[in-house]
Amino acid sequence: MKKKVAILGSTGSIGTQALDVVRDQPEHFEVELLTCGNRVDLLIQQALEFKPNAVVIGDAARLAEVKDALFPKGIKIYAGSDALEQAVTMEGIDLVLTALVGYAGLRPTLAAIGAGKPIALANKETLVVAGELVTKAAREKDVDIYPVDSEHSAIFQCLAGEWHNPIEKIVLTASGGPFRGRTRAELATVTKAQALKHPNWEMGAKITIDSASLMNKGLEAIEAKWLFNLKREQIEIVVHPQSIIHSIVQFRDGSMKAQMGLPDMKLPIQYAMTFPQRLPTTWPRFNFTQYPALTFEQPDLDSFRNLALALEAMDQGGNAPCVLNAANEVAVELFLKEAIGFLEMSDVVAHTLATVPFVAHPTLQDLEASDAEARRVARERTTPAWNS
Ligand code: NDP
Ligand code: MG
Repeated sequence: MKKKVAILGSTGSIGTQALDVVRDQPEHFEVELLTCGNRVDLLIQQALEFKPNAVVIGDAARLAEVKDALFPKGIKIYAGSDALEQAVTMEGIDLVLTALVGYAGLRPTLAAIGAGKPIALANKETLVVAGELVTKAAREKDVDIYPVDSEHSAIFQCLAGEWHNPIEKIVLTASGGPFRGRTRAELATVTKAQALKHPNWEMGAKITIDSASLMNKGLEAIEAKWLFNLKREQIEIVVHPQSIIHSIVQFRDGSMKAQMGLPDMKLPIQYAMTFPQRLPTTWPRFNFTQYPALTFEQPDLDSFRNLALALEAMDQGGNAPCVLNAANEVAVELFLKEAIGFLEMSDVVAHTLATVPFVAHPTLQDLEASDAEARRVARERTTPAWNS
């Protein structure tokens, strides 16, 4: 039986690689739903190739264009975030891959869990913002969440067959990004173009900037906390520039299991889509002689303040990670518009965390209010001209 998948954010970096996996494994997968924000040309092309039952576009202004192309093919077409929330609950869907970026992933993920759909989770921001609510909803509905993020997939792969063994700690590896080893003074002048050049991974713009600022590793620590039910002291972060060891689990007898491989997101995407099975692939294999040294170093929390801020927000709990995430989304957007500098992203995040009122046990409504307030504060922190 083929698995019918919904790919939310099919036009993005993860989404297109997920479709590569589907293309490679036609006997295992069928596409039921594809969604995008506004890159409708690519979505149309994907829909013509994979013939989903339905597509959802974020940008309602482009609806007519998509209808002209896909309606004659018998594909249902919807637009807007409410439609996305409804579409993920469609009866035919067996697995929902959440590959949209940012806070926009929260509601559709909750809707999919509410409908009992297993989740392959790439959209880490969902767990950062609402990890407690999302994991609680998943437990109540007996829904599995399979991690797609390479580090979390690595941990998940190390835990296979070890479910009964408590975790002593995990080691999240970080590439260190393009600015590894730079001082704060050097970071003050780095450009958008430099920040967008990741040494090991080709990814969407937002996560590439998060990787350069190490915010990504902070978001991943929070993601790991919720996925694997960990305390702060059980999460260690180590910089490993080669990105070959994707993360490590240490058990209570001191044994460490690491998951390794060339950096290629197709592997964790496919594993999340086929767990517990591993399907054969023809992707390039790791060769030890090409990597004579795998190296490790401590992250520099003084230069990369975003990581320190994320870990503080994680310690604080409540709505703090939600506020951190919203402020960071605004900061990254402003940095990508070249409206603020690299280090100012941390200033925006720190100011927003210090300003938005703390809520210890937020409901979904509280989180929505915190997200909105944090975005307002983060934008206000910057010059009005920057927000135009
Ligand atoms: P991209 O920016 O490449 O793609 C994002 C996707 O989401 C696109 O399809 C985009 O549509 C869609 N989208 C964006 N905003 C909205 C919205 N408001 N409503 C509906 N759809 C929207 O991101 P990535 O693929 O890089 O990342 C996706 C997620 O996966 C992120 O949470 C990221 O942190 C995580 N991740 C990514 C990795 C990677 O290698 N790329 C690795 C690990 C995790 P459109 O194209 O139309 O704009
Ligand atoms: Mg990752």
